[in-house]
Amino acid sequence: MADRKLYSFYRGLFTGDVLNFSKRSPFVKEIMFERIYPSKIILPMKMHSGVPAVPAVKVDDYVRVGQCVGVPEKGTFSVPVHSGISGRVTDISEIRLPNGILTPAVTIRNDMKRTRLDSVRPRSGFRLSASESIGIIRDAGICGMGGEGIPTAAKLKRARNEAVRDFLVNCLQSEPYSTSDIVAITEYPDYVVLGSCACARVVGASRCVFLISENRKEQRKALSASIEKVRADFKDLEFEIKLFRERFPQGYYRLVARALYGRNLALGETLEKSCSAVLFNCSTMLACWEALSDNIPMMSRIVSVTGDASGGHNMLVPIGTPVSELLSSAQDIKNGSDIIVWGNCLTGIEITDPENTPVVKTTSVISVVRRTEVPRTPCIHCGLCSECCPMNLSPNTIFEMLNQGLGQKAAEEGARDCIACGSCSYVCPAGINLTTAIASFAGEGRIIEINSLLDNSNAEERTADEPAASYVGDASLLEDYADSDEDRSVRSPDSITLPFEKDKEV
Ligand code: SF4
Ligand code: SF4
Repeated sequence: MADRKLYSFYRGLFTGDVLNFSKRSPFVKEIMFERIYPSKIILPMKMHSGVPAVPAVKVDDYVRVGQCVGVPEKGTFSVPVHSGISGRVTDISEIRLPNGILTPAVTIRNDMKRTRLDSVRPRSGFRLSASESIGIIRDAGICGMGGEGIPTAAKLKRARNEAVRDFLVNCLQSEPYSTSDIVAITEYPDYVVLGSCACARVVGASRCVFLISENRKEQRKALSASIEKVRADFKDLEFEIKLFRERFPQGYYRLVARALYGRNLALGETLEKSCSAVLFNCSTMLACWEALSDNIPMMSRIVSVTGDASGGHNMLVPIGTPVSELLSSAQDIKNGSDIIVWGNCLTGIEITDPENTPVVKTTSVISVVRRTEVPRTPCIHCGLCSECCPMNLSPNTIFEMLNQGLGQKAAEEGARDCIACGSCSYVCPAGINLTTAIASFAGEGRIIEINSLLDNSNAEERTADEPAASYVGDASLLEDYADSDEDRSVRSPDSITLPFEKDKEV
């Protein structure tokens, strides 16, 4: 099933080097996760690409596990928000997330009773059409868990419209210290595979391809075993496991296009149109299966909590859990004069208020890294930044151009292709923060890229502060995405019959 070829892009950082950020660091525990029940959750209404949801509860309301507390306004590009705990709403107010987004947020005090909505229970003997499946995934509030948080239902709908051939499942978690996706595969390989098969059938793909690092032997074995279990139920799908070199930032869709299809996608070009493929994160597939099979909305996720000088954990937490509660549960992680990072230590954002900073749907890791003083000197022209740039840029040249106010020249040099991976700053012996300057210049380009993925035609009307603020692009996508009252009685020939054992504890 897995061919012997090793796929990769050129350059980048070797993950082994990054993981040895600190030679003293024990590697984060990859197998088991711990369950954390926080005293409260703070649920931002915007954790995805698109407009914020609107709070659907009032202060003092009692909410249950699985209850929807934020709903998208009709006709907007958004996803609902659900509570992963039961308890009372104590506050609804605006908060600013570390990435600068200002959003309404609902705070819920945990009564620790875990009272669940009756509707959150496994379906039995069901059969779903493609549009029913998309509707369930949309109503479950699922968005991409590995990147921009693009609403999954919209991406599925788009891939279906494009009639893609390949359904790619990204199991290539390459960020330093981050192993939440790896744990998801280790713990729930059947669910990852089933979610992938179901979604592949929804989009009408003929191949379901799992992309995984060559060194993840245990997870490869688990995926292979799970594929064998479902092969008979998904005879229309061809399965493949593609092995990738261990390298950072493996998994970004433009790098996957280069490695798998030999295509250099220009900014705004999509995998769907150019390669007849669509790429989803493996944890997102797990969430899709939970929604399709067990009617569980997106209300919790696995988060790696790790430090470069101490131990590491993977924790299953309700979305909205304050970072401070994760850290207090991870006693072995040294905290104090260290930097707490919302995300991984190369691309994440330092936070100073962990009590009021929540885990959101796209948070795969919280890192605690030591504060190190790198003496800053002028560029010594060593070329290391160019050697590691996965987008084949010359970061030092672009940096100089931007410093001189030559934005147009920097753009011609490819600055807008920067994917903000942080590699150039990490390797620079002169301590120059190349990434911040280049990535913020490229930010506008990233908005265009996201809009292109969403088929949004009003990109140029927006600024970086209001990404995908109102979805008015592809009318057919919006129609099928935003309306929740579509006819779900239709049984299309590509419907999904779900034949599985439900042995997973919720
Ligand atoms: S220029 Fe951008 S893409 Fe290239 S290494 Fe730096 S941050 Fe990464
Ligand atoms: S890595 Fe730093 S010092 Fe070396 S060429 Fe790039 S900017 Fe200059």
